Amino acid sequence: MATDSGQQRELRNDTAVNVVGLLKSQTGDTRSYRLRLDTFEADRETIARDIVGDVRLTRLRDAIIASVSATGVVPLTCARCLREYDQPFEVEFDEEYRQTVDVRTGVDLEDEVVDDELFSRIDENHELDLREPLRQEILVVLPMRPDCGPDCPGPDVLEVGGDDGASDDLVDERLAALASLLAEDQRNETN
Ligand SMILES: [Zn+2]
Repeated sequence: MATDSGQQRELRNDTAVNVVGLLKSQTGDTRSYRLRLDTFEADRETIARDIVGDVRLTRLRDAIIASVSATGVVPLTCARCLREYDQPFEVEFDEEYRQTVDVRTGVDLEDEVVDDELFSRIDENHELDLREPLRQEILVVLPMRPDCGPDCPGPDVLEVGGDDGASDDLVDERLAALASLLAEDQRNETN
C-alpha cells in the first residue's frame, strides 16, 4: 500500500516542488502539500489571487503524478456591464511528470522521453513545477463571456430597445442607433 510521510507540507507562493525524497522512495508512495498562492499570473491579463488547494504527489515507476485541486479568484471585466468583478474558479487536474535524470545514478534519462511533449518533466534539480498546468487549467475554466452575476445592472444600450416591447422587430437598425443616442443624451442630462 501507498504510504504518506504524515504531515502535510506547505507550498507557499511557490509552484516548484523538490521531489528528490519521493524519487528515492517506493512506487506508490505519496506526499501531500497545502498550496497557497497570494497571486498567480495565468497570463499577462489574467492575474489570479487567493489560490488555496491541495497537491498530492504519487511516485510511479518512472514518473510522479501530481493531483491538484484548488480554488481562487480572478478579477474579470463583466461582458454586460463592463464592471470589474472577482470571478471565483475551481480547478482539478492530474499532471504526469517524467524523470529526466535518475535520482540515484545521475544517468540522463532524457533519451527515453524524447519527443514526448505530452509529459511534463522533473528537472535536473529534481524539481517539478505546477505552474504551467495550473496556468492552463485556470484559463480553461474561466468563462468565455464573463458575467458579474445576478446583480448585474446589464448593458445600458440594450435596455433602451427593450423599453418599447411591442415594436422590437420593427425598429430598423438606424432607428435603434438613434434611440440609443437619444437615451445617452438623456442619461447625460440626468447625470
Ligand atoms: Zn455585470
